[in-house]
Amino acid sequence: CGVFGLYAPEQDVAKLTYFGLYALQHRGQESAGIATFEGTKVHLHKDMGLVSQVFNESILEELPGNLAVGHTRYSTTGSSRRVNAQPAVVETRLGSIALAHNGNLVNTMQLREELLQSNFNLVTTTDSEMIAFAIAEAVNAGADWLDGAIQAFHRCQGAFSLVIATPVGVMGTRDPNGIRPLVIGTVGSNPVRYVLSSETCGLDIIGAEYLRDVEPGELVWITEEGLASYHWSQQPQRKLCIFEMIYFARPDSVMHNESLYSYRMRLGRQLAAESFVEADIVFGVPDSGIPAAIGFSQASGVSYGEGLIKNRYVGRTFIQPTQNMRESGIRMKLNPLKDVLAGKRVVIVDDSIVRGTTSRKLVKALRDAGAAEVHMRISSPPVTHPCFYGIDTDTQDQLIAATKSVAEIAQQLEVNSLAYLSWEGMLTATREDTNSFCSACFTGDYPIAIPEQVKRSKLI
Ligand code: 5GP
Ligand code: SF4
Ligand code: MG
Repeated sequence: CGVFGLYAPEQDVAKLTYFGLYALQHRGQESAGIATFEGTKVHLHKDMGLVSQVFNESILEELPGNLAVGHTRYSTTGSSRRVNAQPAVVETRLGSIALAHNGNLVNTMQLREELLQSNFNLVTTTDSEMIAFAIAEAVNAGADWLDGAIQAFHRCQGAFSLVIATPVGVMGTRDPNGIRPLVIGTVGSNPVRYVLSSETCGLDIIGAEYLRDVEPGELVWITEEGLASYHWSQQPQRKLCIFEMIYFARPDSVMHNESLYSYRMRLGRQLAAESFVEADIVFGVPDSGIPAAIGFSQASGVSYGEGLIKNRYVGRTFIQPTQNMRESGIRMKLNPLKDVLAGKRVVIVDDSIVRGTTSRKLVKALRDAGAAEVHMRISSPPVTHPCFYGIDTDTQDQLIAATKSVAEIAQQLEVNSLAYLSWEGMLTATREDTNSFCSACFTGDYPIAIPEQVKRSKLI
């Protein structure tokens, strides 16, 4: 999911949030929503669809206020329904809160039981709404906004980057492992106002300056007085999801002081150093494989070109392709360039293989278009374990590398050769202490304990 929020009475907060969400659209295409606060009054609009489908000028005009929070949803828990769209608005003794969540809790069932006992009427099926209810419960028992929020955060286990709007200010936090990103930016100069966004690309679009990341286990509280910071976790550690770096976040977003474009090019260079192959052309699977393909070309000397053209307008639409179209595969989204490919030995680079279904269809499409040899290179190690923290990498039995060797995968994909980036190679290219990332989908080493029952739902 994408989360965004700001406190800026002198600005059109709904419009800035709209643009922020627009930049974060890649983080979730299922639903979008914005809540603004005008004093104690909340204005909320959310619906299924893309940001551009959910909002228009006149809807934004009906969202006045001093502060706002917005969300784009990618469903991992809770079904794909309108009630599950966020922000989640919940009433408390001190007024409403509107909460936007990115991540996935692992103790949802326990939290639900507890909240149901205290008579909360859970409307949706998401873990996100439960966090809002947990805050309301603490506030209604006498806590102020900050204490109430912190008490609730202590009850949550898993991944959560949150932006929470209240009548007086906007809060932002990351779970004690900092699994999902969240950055702080500034807008305006007199006075300086603060913005929260999942990624720096959400700051760039509104002309905000990147200030810093929200730290794991930190709560930032943005009000008329400016920005205040509280470290609420006793054991914070850096475990940013490495998949954010490899694939999920936008290439123009900055993490660890560089664009992910530069980082992904370096993964590609490393990949070429490890698994060079003689070929006529190298290209990436648009869009996520492109930076690594450029890096591969630079390091290998194989010339870079375009072998596949992506239709940029294919989002998640409500009109499903016909069965026939679905079977013919990926052509809705990616179309091979026959004259470029005919008779060529091609290297195709992608960031990852999850189920292998896209890759298999892609290889077939390249061969149909006349490619003489197809060599696949992947700029991350094999994905062998499912994610419980908010990236939908399926159950373990669906992950092709969970049960198959690289040679078996190569056979199944019908490629001439297949190589993944080695674990060591990924570490070299990453340049940061490996311990400062979650990389459980490559190792099975989960940084946040997962309840047995939840584990069993996804692991073989
Ligand atoms: P596959 O060959 O496994 O079917 O698809 C691999 C492609 O899926 C890659 O291009 C990669 O960018 C993309 N991908 C990687 N992780 C995820 C994920 O968690 N969800 C979705 N929808 N796509 C992913
Ligand atoms: Fe990211 Fe993988 Fe960890 Fe999930 S398991 S948070 S996808 S690194
Ligand atoms: Mg991709």
